[in-house]
Amino acid sequence: MKRILVTGGAGFIGSHLCQRLLNEGNEVICLDNFFTGSKRNIVHMLNNPFFEFIRHDVTQPFFIEVDEIYNLACPASPIHYQYNPIKTVKTSVMGAINMLGLAKRIKAKVLQASTSEVYGDPHIHPQKEDYWGNVNPIGVRSCYDEGKRCSETLFMDYHHQNKVRIKIIRIFNTYGPNMHPNDGRVVSNFIMQALRGEDITIYGKGNQTRSFQYVDDLVEGMIRMMNTGDDIIGPVNIGNPGEFTIKELAEIILKMTNSKSKIIYLPLPQDDPIQRKPDISYAKEILDNWEPKINLESGLLKTINYFNKIITEDIKFA
Ligand code: NAD
Ligand code: UDP
Repeated sequence: MKRILVTGGAGFIGSHLCQRLLNEGNEVICLDNFFTGSKRNIVHMLNNPFFEFIRHDVTQPFFIEVDEIYNLACPASPIHYQYNPIKTVKTSVMGAINMLGLAKRIKAKVLQASTSEVYGDPHIHPQKEDYWGNVNPIGVRSCYDEGKRCSETLFMDYHHQNKVRIKIIRIFNTYGPNMHPNDGRVVSNFIMQALRGEDITIYGKGNQTRSFQYVDDLVEGMIRMMNTGDDIIGPVNIGNPGEFTIKELAEIILKMTNSKSKIIYLPLPQDDPIQRKPDISYAKEILDNWEPKINLESGLLKTINYFNKIITEDIKFA
C-alpha cells in the first residue's frame, strides 16, 4: 500500500484518479481548495478509511509524508482560469514550487499535470513532445499556458539541481463524468445545451479542431507514467489522437441526445488554437503500449448519461 497525495483531487480528473488509486489498495490524501472542484465529486469516498480530504490552497506550503504526489491543482477551463489570472499563475508556479519542495524533503515521486496548451496555437501537426510551441506570452490564455510552461521548467530544474524524481505529462482535452456542468468547456457546454434544448454555442466557424480523450484512458496513462522507472521523466503527451472539428462535435452530440437545439455562432475567443492533436508514439513506447481504448461516441454516451442524471435529479453544484 502506497500513501499518495492528489492535489486538485476534488476536481474532474482528480476525483477519478483518487477513486482509481483507492480501488488499487492505496491510501489517498486529496487536497483541494474547491475553487472549481466540488464535494459532490468526492462525497462517495469520504467514508472510506483510506481516503482523507484536506482543504488547502497549493500556493501555501504543505507538509505531509507520502510516497507519491500527483499535482493537478489548477483551474483548467478558460472561463475559470481567466477569472483571476494572477491567481492562476500563482497556483501553477507556487503550487509547483511547494509540491517540488515537499517531494525533495520527503523523497517522493511527483507527477505534474501539464497540458497541450504548452504548444499554444501550434505550427506543427500533430504535436510531438520536442515541439517548443507557439504561445502568446501576453494574451488572455497566457496565465494558464505560461503558468504551466513555467511549472514544467521548475520540474526539470528541481530534477537536475536537486535530483527530485519527477514525471511530466501533457494532457490533451479530456472529458467525462464529474466535469462541472457550468465548467464552460466545449463538451460539457454542448451536452448541457443539447439536453436542455438551448442553443449550441459554437465559437468561430467551428472548423477549429480538438482531440478528445475519455477520462479513464487518461487516468490509466497517468498511473502508468507514475510507475515508470526514475530515468523516465517526460514530458509525454497523453491524449486521444482522434481529431474532430468543433462543428463535428456539436453534430455528434445533437444526434446522440436526439436534441432539437439549434447551432448558433459566437465570436472566437482571442488566441483560440486552430488545431490540436497529440502524437502519442512516445507514450506508447514508454508506457507499455498505452493507447486510448474509449472512442468518442462511447465516452460521450457515459458523459451524456451523467449530465442527464444531474438535470433530471436537479442536482445543485456550488
Ligand atoms: P478541474 O477544474 O475540474 O480541477 C482542478 C482542481 O484543482 C479543482 O478541484 C480545484 O478546486 C482545484 N484547485 C484549483 N486551484 C487550487 C489551489 N490554488 N489550491 C488547491 N486546489 C486548487 O479541472 P480538471 O480538468 O480536472 O484538471 C485537472 C488538472 O489537469 C489541471 O492541472 C489541468 O490544468 C490539467 N489538464 C486538464 C485538461 C482537461 O482537458 N481536463 C487538459 C490539460 C491539462
Ligand atoms: N468552444 C465552443 N463553444 C463552447 C465552448 C468552447 O465552440 O461553448 C470551442 C472553443 O472556442 C475551442 C474548443 O471549443 O475552440 C475547445 O474549447 P475548451 O474550452 O473546451 O478547451 P480548450 O480551448 O482549452 O482546448
